[in-house]
Amino acid sequence: MSNPLADLLLSWSRRDGSRPCIRNANGEVWTYGDLADRSAQIANTLIAHNVQAGDRVAVQVEKCPDVFTLNIACARVGAVYVPLNSTYTHHELLGLLEDACPALLVVDALLDVPFQQVTLAALLEQSATAPTTYIDVERSDDDPAAMLFTSGTTGKPKGAVLSQSNLVYGTSTLSAFWGMTENDVLLHTLPVYHVHGLFVAGYNTLVTGGCMVLLSAFDIDRIVAELPNCTVLMGVPTHYTRLLADARFTRELVSHTRLFTSGSAPMLATTHAEFTQRTGAQIVERYGLTETYILTSNPVDGARKPGTVGLPLPGVELRLDGLETGEIQVKSPTVFAGYWNRPELRGTEFSADGWFKTGDIGRIDADGYVEIVGRSKDLIITGGLNVYPKEIEQALDALPGILESAVVGLPDPDFGEAVTAVVVAEPGSTLDPAEIRYQAREVLAPFKVPKSVHVVESLPRNALGKVEKARLREMLSGR
Ligand code: AMP
Repeated sequence: MSNPLADLLLSWSRRDGSRPCIRNANGEVWTYGDLADRSAQIANTLIAHNVQAGDRVAVQVEKCPDVFTLNIACARVGAVYVPLNSTYTHHELLGLLEDACPALLVVDALLDVPFQQVTLAALLEQSATAPTTYIDVERSDDDPAAMLFTSGTTGKPKGAVLSQSNLVYGTSTLSAFWGMTENDVLLHTLPVYHVHGLFVAGYNTLVTGGCMVLLSAFDIDRIVAELPNCTVLMGVPTHYTRLLADARFTRELVSHTRLFTSGSAPMLATTHAEFTQRTGAQIVERYGLTETYILTSNPVDGARKPGTVGLPLPGVELRLDGLETGEIQVKSPTVFAGYWNRPELRGTEFSADGWFKTGDIGRIDADGYVEIVGRSKDLIITGGLNVYPKEIEQALDALPGILESAVVGLPDPDFGEAVTAVVVAEPGSTLDPAEIRYQAREVLAPFKVPKSVHVVESLPRNALGKVEKARLREMLSGR
């Protein structure tokens, strides 16, 4: 009997159950043995809630160690783990739940939604008396293990379904590439509803016997206090610019930290340079998508090239749809099989010969290092989180008095890009930017709400009637 993902995630609990694997904000330490026992108890409890292999278990809870035990429990029962951004509004959440149709929803406080749900606290209480043994359900490589929603260019979030082998292969390769070992202590500051925090940071530590210091948020004071005990920090560019803005972030502070990684959004060359000047260390920038796990990384041993996202990881085939510059297309054991409930997207998101189209425009240098030069999909990345303009435009257009809108990302020293909206009033209406932002907060998660709203007479359009976003950006940057 085998369950590749559960076997991998529990490998260290079988090897040395007494090793610490998670330390949380209160100083509580969890061992690999705890991870095995608690995940077995939760697996037994999920079964009691009628969760069966192949069912989706949706999870919208604040970051805590039990996110990992619950995730492993899902792997053990063969359920598909569906993490949900904890800042989604009720409106957003309902749409995703209707799509995912979970057998069980795990939340911090019960919601007004028509799905079987349980609070995490109640689930843990029920689990406390459950057996600490569980025979993992047999799974094959292709069975789905997780589904993560990523916003589409159409504005409607799509569930990217990742298989057991996507996660097992991706984690095994990346942890080896980054030289992760049982001696590593990771400072975990990322959200755990995203590939970056859950798999790249979490799984890569757990499968190599390391320990995570789990911070609930990116809290500079806590980071400064914890960094001297940590060997690895994984972040998004915004994290590094915030650290560099703090005088306590010095070479001495990070003298024990052997690896700093960055991804999820482009890092400016100036940030790389400033980081190296301040610490003497070089950030390892890497690149991937929810749909593909990590595709490329600068090496840990070997030349790191700032401004590039490094070399394709073992097993990743990467090509450009163009001569020198073009859309990055990939084949890899980590590429997902498709979007949940959206078979029609197979034809648009994959090439005719089976390569996944990333939507990112890249170049490859003479040494094989990949450089991201832009995005063909009109994505905004703000603080490492993706925002698709279309979704925001649809929400704004639905507000009273707005005729039409256009949303772009403008450079922002803190967030990388700031969601910026331009709106046109319906004839006879007067629009108030502050009021629009207030109303947008009702329907959009905070990170998606435009940081600024500009009222204009009309949107710049090309001959085909398409809004000219480049011109719009120029207009706005002059304001
Ligand atoms: P997500 O699905 O949230 O992981 O977002 C994937 C997108 O993030 C990619 O398609 C890229 O546009 C962007 N991305 C990820 N890592 C990098 C990076 N190191 N440099 C530039 N863009 C990145």
